[in-house]
Amino acid sequence: MYSNMNSSTHPMAAPEIAVPALPEDERVWVPQAQGVWFRPLMLNTMQGQWCNLLRVRRSGILSRHLHPNPVHGYVIKGKWHYLEHDWVAETGSYVFEPPGEIHTLVVPEDCEEMITFFNITGSMIYLDAENRHTGYEDVFTKIDMCRAHYETVGLGGEYVDQFVR
Ligand code: FE
Repeated sequence: MYSNMNSSTHPMAAPEIAVPALPEDERVWVPQAQGVWFRPLMLNTMQGQWCNLLRVRRSGILSRHLHPNPVHGYVIKGKWHYLEHDWVAETGSYVFEPPGEIHTLVVPEDCEEMITFFNITGSMIYLDAENRHTGYEDVFTKIDMCRAHYETVGLGGEYVDQFVR
């Protein structure tokens, strides 16, 4: 029941998120690996899904992984490709990664920096060359990484809470 005719938001609805996707404060970027960071935007614990920016400032193979669920990507800057496909995702490209797909993300040598928005449902399952599982990520491991990083850099662990629903 909408309690107020002037309000467009149901009282049970979760609060909105509206932030500059590219943060001014470098500390908002969470280190993921050497030359790799992510910036959380929406960490959805109800559906096991998350939206983030991935920023890469090195070339070569990033990871080989499997998505059991769909992934949507939009390239904001730079370019990258998958070893398993012959297309290149460039600035402005949209990519749909279907459930069940295994692929190996590569940033080419002539790309100094790539930034891509990803909407990921479920998990990332990391694989070695023989498709053996080497690790995984989900919305909860992402929240934990953010909390630990924001604690370390002085933003406070609770800084991540604004992105969690
Ligand atoms: Fe992927």
